[in-house]
Amino acid sequence: MIQKGLLIKRLNSLPLELQHIIFLSRNLARIEKIGVYLVGGFVRDLLLGVDNFDLDIVVEKDGIEFAYKLSRILDGTVVKHKAFGTATITKKNGSKIDIATSRKEFYPAPAALPVVNEGGIEDDLFRRDFSINAMACHIDFEKFGRLVDRFNGLKDLKDGRIRCLHEESFIDDPTRIIRAVRFEQRLGFHIDKDTLRLIKQARNLGMLEKVQKHRIRDELILVFKEKNPYKVLRRLKQIYNLTFIDRHIKLNRDCKKVFFNLNKACVRFQHSFPQRRPLDIWLMYLMFFLSPIKLRFLQRILGKYAFCCGDTKRIISFNKEFRKIDKNLSKKKLSAAGLHSILSPLSYEVILLTLALSKRQRTKQRIQDFFVKHHHKKLTITGGDLLSLGIKPGPKFKKLFQVVLRAKINGKIHNREEELGFVKKIINKK
Ligand code: ATP
Repeated sequence: MIQKGLLIKRLNSLPLELQHIIFLSRNLARIEKIGVYLVGGFVRDLLLGVDNFDLDIVVEKDGIEFAYKLSRILDGTVVKHKAFGTATITKKNGSKIDIATSRKEFYPAPAALPVVNEGGIEDDLFRRDFSINAMACHIDFEKFGRLVDRFNGLKDLKDGRIRCLHEESFIDDPTRIIRAVRFEQRLGFHIDKDTLRLIKQARNLGMLEKVQKHRIRDELILVFKEKNPYKVLRRLKQIYNLTFIDRHIKLNRDCKKVFFNLNKACVRFQHSFPQRRPLDIWLMYLMFFLSPIKLRFLQRILGKYAFCCGDTKRIISFNKEFRKIDKNLSKKKLSAAGLHSILSPLSYEVILLTLALSKRQRTKQRIQDFFVKHHHKKLTITGGDLLSLGIKPGPKFKKLFQVVLRAKINGKIHNREEELGFVKKIINKK
């Protein structure tokens, strides 16, 4: 039950860094004599008691100017988006604070970007997607911790309901359909009956098909960043379809198992190797989601959605190479160095996805062996050692290193002395 005073209690138990920023915003608001609020997902999660460290602040005046002033105190940097009256402060430790001028929005055409005008906090809440995301919390001195809940978001939060704010919501911005499903599945809520009716109306008008592709891409990335993207996709398929993404997209029963295996593989990897770089798990889900698509269609889809170059490369590489990698890894005879040469050029994402997707037991075992026994193996000798042995720098260096590494991975040599001895043997032979 959400009682009076709960918000203040929750605000006071936020991490000290966030409390400090809120405290500074509160002081600044007093000096500037303006209304300042926490809004959106931050307030929703505060009420739910869910961790959310992405401060979202709305200012009833010039948000950009406020951001610059706050940033000066916090010693951060500001990136502003003048057209929307928004700014993001990045602190020295990398944490970010979004600050916006409270605004009114008007959609000149269905699925188009809105025209923005100044407005009060209530206008700002009315332009939002769902009642649970349309609450604000005063952080100015006089009303600190008081909830602004013009659209009964608190009741929907208690009842577990995703409800849009007006009849035109999905016509104005059809990406809200994807968001509705995402929040429904993440929070274990249900989409309100009228909201569902409006989603179906939008589906009959093919609204998601009319949205600019890069906006769909951004929403899909958010779906793949959810804990259980399969559930979101299955529900989206049920209430809209997935062909709006592309007609080649399929989501069958097998997918559920692979999504599950993939999650398991990632958790295990991160647990076993906490010092390695974080995985782009969302990208692995996406690679898998797109894996049944033939290469020529896939290239077209990735171009259409303007995925960034690095992501495109990894998705295509997986699509092209998966079968070959799987087949090579399952060969009866494969030395440790052979295994290393197949897997070491690949990203962790591609390797773990192969592990989750392969039906071959030998492939799975070899990937595990690679991570446990061979992956960390490196040479201790350096270019300096080769120079001191009188070897001239050039392409020879690289070849020598490869030969020595192969011997080390195959267990023929183990330490620096043996590495040096091995190099000497090779050069003496020549
Ligand atoms: P998450 O926990 O996934 O980050 P969030 O609610 O914080 O959820 P954001 O995408 O960061 O989501 O958006 C912040 C707020 O901006 C939302 O809570 C909502 O109020 C508003 N918002 C975002 N996207 C839309 C949209 N398409 N239409 C209307 N309001 C939106």
